[in-house]
Amino acid sequence: MSLFTSVIYFSLGFFISFIFPRLPIMLITRTKGFNTTFPAHPEPIPLSPKLTQRVLHMRMIYWMGFVASTIPLLFGLASIKWGNAPFGFGLWISSGWFILSRMQTFVGGPKPPWTLEMAQKLQLVLDEAKSESACCIKPSPEWKMLSISCNKCGKVLEKIPRPDLGRKRKDGFFAGGFRLLLTDGYPVIDNNLGDIEDSEE
Ligand SMILES: [Zn+2]
Repeated sequence: MSLFTSVIYFSLGFFISFIFPRLPIMLITRTKGFNTTFPAHPEPIPLSPKLTQRVLHMRMIYWMGFVASTIPLLFGLASIKWGNAPFGFGLWISSGWFILSRMQTFVGGPKPPWTLEMAQKLQLVLDEAKSESACCIKPSPEWKMLSISCNKCGKVLEKIPRPDLGRKRKDGFFAGGFRLLLTDGYPVIDNNLGDIEDSEE
């Protein structure tokens, strides 16, 4: 095998195991039936138990990717041993890196884009809006790009940037999917929309 074909095989393996664990988030969540109750991306989402549940679903699918990444890892090892070594090495490096980067969470690294605390915070804001200490008479908290604020009085209730929530992205499947690969679901400070939307307040 020439160096050139080895590089091609390595890149192919690397690419496959780069995409593979991210597929659940990219595919499952973009389907139509998954998003009927939410306004289209990138509109703000009104807070509701459905939204809290969505954050928990995204969190579950995120960790599913972690489990999924062990498949190319094992295939990679098998391929190094019995098959095409550069291909297997590509698979193995990429999924190994994915697993390591996700495991950083447990040693004080960055938190996942969707967490249990995030869901709890949403619930707290929602409860607060229904209580006597609400911001105005008819509060309607919604999650904008950079914070949760009340649609009626404009008060910022919680400063948490909105991660990707599985809605079909306005920039289409491919550009949106590519952006999702780059951001891994974390909130992006969007120059076009996020700033305009939030600077109005
Ligand atoms: Zn209000």
